[in-house]
Amino acid sequence: MTAAAPQTETAPSSNFLRQIIAEDLRARKYGGRVVTRFPPEPNGYLHIGHAKSICLNFGLAAENGGVCHLRFDDTNPVKEDVEYEESIKDAVHWLGYDWGPHLYHASDYFERLYEFARHFIKAGLAYVDSSNPEEMRRLRGTLTEPGRPSIYRERSIEENLDLFRRMKEGEFPDGAHVLRLNIDLASPNINLRDPAIYRIRHTPHHRTGDKWCVYPLYDYTHCISDALERITHSLCTLEFQDHRPLYDWVIEQLAEAGLLQRPLPHQYEFARLNLTYTVMSKRKLIELVEGKYVDGWDDPRMPTLVGLRRRGYTPEAIRLFAERIGVSKAHQWIDIGMLEDCLREDLNVRAERRIAVLDPIKLVIDNYPADREEECIAPNHPQKPELGRRSLPFARELWIERDDYEEAPPKGYFRLSPGAEVRLRYGYIVKCLGAERDVEDNVVAVHCTYDPDTRSGTPGAERRKVKGNIHWLAVRSAQSAEVRLYDRLFIVPQPGRATQPNEAGANSGGPARVASTGPDTIFDDHVPFDEATERNYLDDLNPEARKTAKAYVEPALVSAPREARYQFERHGYFIADAIDHDPSRPVFNRAVTLRDSWGKEGSAKRP
Ligand code: ATP
Ligand code: MG
Repeated sequence: MTAAAPQTETAPSSNFLRQIIAEDLRARKYGGRVVTRFPPEPNGYLHIGHAKSICLNFGLAAENGGVCHLRFDDTNPVKEDVEYEESIKDAVHWLGYDWGPHLYHASDYFERLYEFARHFIKAGLAYVDSSNPEEMRRLRGTLTEPGRPSIYRERSIEENLDLFRRMKEGEFPDGAHVLRLNIDLASPNINLRDPAIYRIRHTPHHRTGDKWCVYPLYDYTHCISDALERITHSLCTLEFQDHRPLYDWVIEQLAEAGLLQRPLPHQYEFARLNLTYTVMSKRKLIELVEGKYVDGWDDPRMPTLVGLRRRGYTPEAIRLFAERIGVSKAHQWIDIGMLEDCLREDLNVRAERRIAVLDPIKLVIDNYPADREEECIAPNHPQKPELGRRSLPFARELWIERDDYEEAPPKGYFRLSPGAEVRLRYGYIVKCLGAERDVEDNVVAVHCTYDPDTRSGTPGAERRKVKGNIHWLAVRSAQSAEVRLYDRLFIVPQPGRATQPNEAGANSGGPARVASTGPDTIFDDHVPFDEATERNYLDDLNPEARKTAKAYVEPALVSAPREARYQFERHGYFIADAIDHDPSRPVFNRAVTLRDSWGKEGSAKRP
């Protein structure tokens, strides 16, 4: 059984992980096996950063004939939930990957982890520490000072075994004791200064119920789970680099004792994805949802996979993005324009074209008979005749975009203005006469005349060239629709940072890699990279990240299935909303504009 290998649209380029795996295969280090794993904690929804890890783990396994396990890292009963597990499985499947029979839980190993802990105690390599957390922190030392032993470090093996058993049996309250490895208090690597591996938590677990009240900690659990599953390449993000000596120490001891099989897995670290104009830490995403700054986890402004999906992103675009950003060992910020470009590239070749008028005003063709209607023919895709064509009803009264008319046009404006000619796309050339205004001087209708010899598709019609070309819909057949115009969630590249890097460069849409300005903090377990901020990131929210337009769409769009994606000509790529769209009330979300116009006129700017 190999991991599913969806097509990635670019040829894979080499990266350090690909090279390592190729070398290990050549040297037959693992007998030709490649086994990776994606190990999410079931305590939140997956985001685009996780997608990088998923594509990497499943992708590397697939391209080497290997397998990738899905393992829920469910060692913290306080925060975890089955609901999250289901959403994580859906997200991995949606991205196009499959773990086959290899679905595991860290909690599957609780029994063995407990036995291994007893082994460490018996070998004199673990002890029960009853210091309070403050004391433990004080004795731990600092980067420049070594740690010092607690008075409990010298407990006898018998006493440790007895206390650990009683911890397990529920004799002590939360926090009364922890089990620590006995490694090296003087180590310059704080992770090796007798790390805690078990703590007491009188909290039922979503899978093991109230069987356990001691739970193993991440560093201890993760490496053992990897070894038990015979993982070969254990890929994680850079903040775990300093944990690797502990990873190796634990499994090496157990292998030495014959409790784990060799060859042992090896941990490799890669840079976490940081994406401009968004945030990715779980804490912040939860705050956005709970503080109602967005409408939920699947709000199309969110960087969650459920959010991106509802926004209109395709799995293909996300896989293309993951391939294009590659993997590196240095902290990096990727410009969100790169993600947007991947979606444009994917949908440009696949999405059928449709017409929508987002900010309608009326265009009246004065010399066109009021009772006449014609059918104009529009291709569904300009480069793909096999996708067919459709007809657009044409009549005397049309909807056009408000900004396709200018009374006093600026230089280079080729659309409607008094005296100017434009082509109504797939229809006729019209000559503008001017506009009709209401008492408040608002344009209520633009008037024009048409030239009957210029209908698109008829012989000779295209002979007369005009510069402007605008879209339209016949008033009598256009359908009203709600169109949600989504934009970036934040108005600055690095929300919460006091100084923004290279603001102009970040707008280029190219692979602007902005070096991290953050210190190389020592990360406690799971603290995400973008946690350290200097100002409130909520102050950087983009108030215009969602605008709603009362639009008109082609009649055919009313029956669009939910989640069908289209290019609305001249506007961008849109998706029929997965939840709210209904033939009686069509709703479309803008996934991305046609071009990267961020920071240009008309879009949000930093105040
Ligand atoms: P958070 O930063 O939101 O707390 P996490 O690392 O705690 O995320 P996990 O559920 O532990 O979330 O993540 C599962 C896997 O996804 C881990 O291997 C982790 O390294 C990886 N991952 C998480 N965030 C990113 C990211 N931004 N870029 C790349 N990989 C990531
Ligand atoms: Mg984590």
